[in-house]
Amino acid sequence: MCPSSDYPDDFRKCVEFHGHMCPGLAIGYSAVKAAESLMKTTASEDEELVCLVENNSCAVDAVQVLLGCTFGKGNLIFRDWGKQVFTFYERRSGRAVRASLRNSSPNREAQHELRKKIDSGTATEEDKKRFTKLREDYTKSLVSEPESYFEVKEIKIDAPPLAQIADTAPCAICGEQTMVSRMVDRAGSMICKDCAK
Ligand SMILES: [Zn+2]
Ligand SMILES: [Zn+2]
Repeated sequence: MCPSSDYPDDFRKCVEFHGHMCPGLAIGYSAVKAAESLMKTTASEDEELVCLVENNSCAVDAVQVLLGCTFGKGNLIFRDWGKQVFTFYERRSGRAVRASLRNSSPNREAQHELRKKIDSGTATEEDKKRFTKLREDYTKSLVSEPESYFEVKEIKIDAPPLAQIADTAPCAICGEQTMVSRMVDRAGSMICKDCAK
């Protein structure tokens, strides 16, 4: 789904990367925008800006696009806590800003009921249209009013570790190059976790 021109360009870029427009993506967008009130969040070319995300939902894709915090560069850190919480850490200053989603969709109940109908196959065309409309309203509102959804505050955290250049060695069974720190010692031979299963 391509968002209409009433969305900002940077949100459209997020949608392009993510593949569809959804409230989840808008949550990540909104978190970054809300944090901007306390920290100049600009896209990071190296590891200057680190983002710690507490979920691996659609929201994280917006963080990657807007801030250049990526799994590959090591400045996107995933903590599997199932929360819509995003902490932005600036290495140079040591400042950290935590953005936490406090409010959900104002139509949460209605969306929930419609979703149940759709999943059980009892939804009418009218129900489906209404569901889509409510999701779009929520997405639009997240994008345009981050401050009414996110609580942001400055916090103190330890500097997240820098990405390490990892030593690799061939696995004794499959021969594939593997990070030594991830290998398992099996009777004196170092093997990969796949072969150790
Ligand atoms: Zn999504
Ligand atoms: Zn192996």
